[in-house]
Amino acid sequence: MTANVPEVFGSLVFNQKTMKDRLPKETFKALKKTLDDGAPLPLDVANVVAHAMKEWAIEKGATHYTHWFQPLTGITAEKHDSFINPQDDGTVIMSFSGKELVKGEPDASSFPSGGHRATFEARGYTVWDPTSYPFIKEHTLCIPTAFCSYTGEALDKKTPLLRSMEALDKQAKRILKLFGKEVSHVATTVGPEQEYFIVDHKLYSERKDLRMTGRTLFGAKPSKGQEMDDQYFAALNPRIVEYMEDLNDTLWKYGVLSKTEHNEVAPAQHEMAPIFSTTNLSVDQNQLTMEVMKKVAKRHGLECLLHEKPFAGLNGSGKHNNWSMSTNEGENLLEPGKTPESNAQFLLFLTAILKAVDENQDLLRISVASAGNDHRLGANEAPPAIISVYLGDELYAVLEAIKDGKPYTSDKNEKMTIGVDVLPSIPKDSTDRNRTSPFAFTGNKFEFRSVGSSLSIAGPNTTLDAIVADVLKIFADELEGASDFEKALNALIAREVKAHWRIVFNGNGYDESWKVEAKKRGLLELKTTPDAVEHYLDAKNVKLFTELGVYTKQEMESHYEIKLEKYAQVLNIEVNTMLEMISKDILPAAYKYISAVSKTVSELKSVVPGAKASAETKVLSELDVLVDELSEKAELLEKAHEKAEKAGSALAVAKAYADTVKPAMEEARAVADKIEPLLGEEYKPFPSYEDLLFRV
Ligand code: ADP
Ligand code: MG
Repeated sequence: MTANVPEVFGSLVFNQKTMKDRLPKETFKALKKTLDDGAPLPLDVANVVAHAMKEWAIEKGATHYTHWFQPLTGITAEKHDSFINPQDDGTVIMSFSGKELVKGEPDASSFPSGGHRATFEARGYTVWDPTSYPFIKEHTLCIPTAFCSYTGEALDKKTPLLRSMEALDKQAKRILKLFGKEVSHVATTVGPEQEYFIVDHKLYSERKDLRMTGRTLFGAKPSKGQEMDDQYFAALNPRIVEYMEDLNDTLWKYGVLSKTEHNEVAPAQHEMAPIFSTTNLSVDQNQLTMEVMKKVAKRHGLECLLHEKPFAGLNGSGKHNNWSMSTNEGENLLEPGKTPESNAQFLLFLTAILKAVDENQDLLRISVASAGNDHRLGANEAPPAIISVYLGDELYAVLEAIKDGKPYTSDKNEKMTIGVDVLPSIPKDSTDRNRTSPFAFTGNKFEFRSVGSSLSIAGPNTTLDAIVADVLKIFADELEGASDFEKALNALIAREVKAHWRIVFNGNGYDESWKVEAKKRGLLELKTTPDAVEHYLDAKNVKLFTELGVYTKQEMESHYEIKLEKYAQVLNIEVNTMLEMISKDILPAAYKYISAVSKTVSELKSVVPGAKASAETKVLSELDVLVDELSEKAELLEKAHEKAEKAGSALAVAKAYADTVKPAMEEARAVADKIEPLLGEEYKPFPSYEDLLFRV
């Protein structure tokens, strides 16, 4: 247990405090200008910063540095270089120049770049993002960087995110100016709540599916699941307590504001929530958090599963992406105000979000699309694949009144005129009741709940920032030209709320009737990743991203290919693993058991000639049928798999996987899961669900 958290917190981070302590005053001032206003960092300043950073890193035991970046694979990449610099006399000195700090040149060719290998080929470069602090990880100074090709295309997830934040900054400032506010910066803020499962490492290592795919491809239902609800917020088991303590210590050293920890609903499932920060820092820290979660687990003989659906029949894991916008003066733009003017400003931003979400349901769904997350969305324990907005009762009533042009009647039956009277304060706790909504207003922020637990949050936040920036731009264009601002503002809000009212849904998102209702409203239900990604290159989407300068068309074309290819790759690995487990683990285990029971029967009959052995015979004949059925299903799966691989375009292949291979996998699994409980304990092919979930 850490004795002194404030002392340890951020001790491995070259944060502003360390910068201030270690840099000459002038250098710190120049760097601060870059941090605050995004001004470019002059090389002479970079040299001084690099030197101080190296001295600090060496004191902390670092010998190497790396430009730490986020290629489109969704994980982070690093290539380590040591600080050593050979001298003429055969010795070395430890050096690190401003040039090395600011720019690196990893080989780009082995990272996915979609269909544009010709232009995306060979070399890219990484550039330090000074707004995200360098940190030390295992003897290496990690420098958070963006990754671009020499022709300027983004090869990573950070570059577009920074571009989207810039777009939002620009448009939000135009809106604030209309309300008489001049601020120097508006940034989005994110607090990602991270769910995960913990299982025993030894049991994990005995399951090929967990090792190869991160999820169980087989497994009969355990005799106890999550129906008792006795795990949620229950006292933690001692091994988990030790894990969480170590996790917190490690995260704190990295300056991650790990705040809340608790059990989740499913057995073996837990959550860590950090305190929110600026989006690009949150993204970096969430990537680091996922890495640390896995590493720390191994130190404790445990394994951390970040897959969205490690266990069928139990809740999956998500990442609740709490999102808002804030000025450099600390004003949260989604905080309902205390005066009619600030209410109006809040309502305008809120309306912009409604419009953005309604018009870009497809982009939001695409931003969270992955093979893993498809198991979760719409599986009755996570938001449905349909995107809608939850507002809570009070805000719903306020907007409804605006839409209908009526005065708002509060809970207490007070009538108030919007724009004249102060809106009722919206109590935070009353807004968070609906856990079934993919996009819920929770008092002073929105919570985007569709994000999968293993996904980088860069993509979803790039999309969110971009779609909101796009609408703010349209609103600013209209309002800047208005002769009577107040009148124009009220008209705009009423008009847009009315136009996008269909996206507001306060009901139960898990209910089957919502699907019918949503269809009636014309909302999209994009069930699978290929169904969603198919819309990525629609003219509307290309226009939105390219006009804001968030993605180029070429970058989007690459993402389209990469998303589909990745989906097919994941399923390809799952099928191969499944077929191997059937032929090498499950069928042989069944044969062994059949043989043992058969032997028992013949031995029994030789001793007791009239013995019926009906129980034994029953098991044998059941297994006989199931074993045949499983081989048959495996053959069908193999055929569907072969056919899918030859389907043609990336979209056709992905669709074939979704529409024919996945159902064939489910059928094979269903048979295997009937075999498992029939086998004697010592004949089990691998640790069961019960072992994995209840033996930590
Ligand atoms: P819960 O959802 O469990 O009730 P909170 O609402 O307090 O918990 O916070 C959930 C997450 O939302 C935390 O990570 C918190 O830091 C984050 N959060 C709070 N305010 C903001 C904000 N303005 N912008 C982004 N995230 C925020
Ligand atoms: Mg929450």
